[in-house]
Amino acid sequence: MNIFIKIANNTFVNIKGVIYMENTMHGKHNSSIGCTVEECKFNDKVDQFCTLPKIQVEKHETKATSKQCTDCGSFQK
Ligand code: SF4
Repeated sequence: MNIFIKIANNTFVNIKGVIYMENTMHGKHNSSIGCTVEECKFNDKVDQFCTLPKIQVEKHETKATSKQCTDCGSFQK
């Protein structure tokens, strides 16, 4: 679980001292796309949501049989 403290407008710090700027590239996060991938530049890093209006979910097996067979194709570092 991430705990963030707001230290300024759109600026937060976590318990490890890492400072995050709220991602405003695409405005507010998309409440329909929850995501914990903080390494992605589209993750809001505060509320654990994606900021994109739409993502592309892909499979990397010929036939997907579990969630491990799927990935977010919109991820960017
Ligand atoms: S693009 Fe995909 S990996 Fe990145 S924050 Fe959105 S849902 Fe998560």
